[in-house]
Amino acid sequence: MRQLLNFLFILLPSILVHLSAQNYALAIHGGAGFLNRSDISEYQVQVYRESLSSVLAIGDSMLNAGSSALDVVETVIRLMENDSIYNAGKGSVLNKHGMVECDASFMDGRNLEAGAVTGVAHIKNPITAARLVMEKSPHVMLAGKGAEEFALLHNVPFVPNKYFITARKHQAYVKKLGNRKHGTVGAVALDISGNIAAGTSTGGMNGKAFGRIGDSPIIGAGTYANNNTCGVSCTGHGEYYIRNVVAHDVSAMLAYTSKDLQEVTAEIIHEKLNSRAGAGGLIAVDKAGNISMEFNTTSMFRASSKNGKVYVAIFADE
Ligand code: ASP
Repeated sequence: MRQLLNFLFILLPSILVHLSAQNYALAIHGGAGFLNRSDISEYQVQVYRESLSSVLAIGDSMLNAGSSALDVVETVIRLMENDSIYNAGKGSVLNKHGMVECDASFMDGRNLEAGAVTGVAHIKNPITAARLVMEKSPHVMLAGKGAEEFALLHNVPFVPNKYFITARKHQAYVKKLGNRKHGTVGAVALDISGNIAAGTSTGGMNGKAFGRIGDSPIIGAGTYANNNTCGVSCTGHGEYYIRNVVAHDVSAMLAYTSKDLQEVTAEIIHEKLNSRAGAGGLIAVDKAGNISMEFNTTSMFRASSKNGKVYVAIFADE
């Protein structure tokens, strides 16, 4: 009798609340790379974890309160662009000429609308400019000075190029540390209305050629979102991600095969790509709210939340 009463008055209400709760999911990344625990101090690990946790918490509470996937993706990517520990916005890596050129893209899974900017050197938050290209222009991608002129017309805040350059990224450039320091940022959200959005923002690869464009601003390569399948944001050696059309491939494999999100992302990241040919990773959220964060490097700054259940990690064994 007591057990029955317990069930009726204590367990049943919480089960009902849980069942009626709306489904939402959020995944973010701060780049894949070849970090090992011995390369980074406990303090730095803490700095990254705290940043990922606080960005995730903001996005999670927005989704919980009913914000759109589009607003959440833009907000969390802006936060990471403003944080110089990542390679996006402030803190971006330098190209061969010692300057920063940023790339970003944004996609709306409801209608497959998309926007991107590439090679922009003065837009404080490239992800916002990418969203504006989607919402306020008839185009998908704007480059360099044209993208900046468009952003200026829409009152997007501008900064001098040196705003992006931090002492650490300058040192990496001078020491030619190569491509091992990643830090691209991205986000994928499924909101309580069942809409998916995805975005990616980056300074690209350290020491890249002037004018080089990676996968991050390319719809289908670095970013993709389709309410019928999933949303994806990639990070890694962009040339491979472009050639393998990675973000769209995740969506296409979900659409055309009976494999689930985890099987599809594992196949792409570990079989089609690998740590030599296509080092990197991706985050993906499918239409049911399943989350996958797969990578073939030793680390990927990442965090996710599904209906409030939080996960934050850096290294492969977490
Ligand atoms: N995918 C980016 C690029 O190739 C870099 C990265 O994600 O680390 O520009």
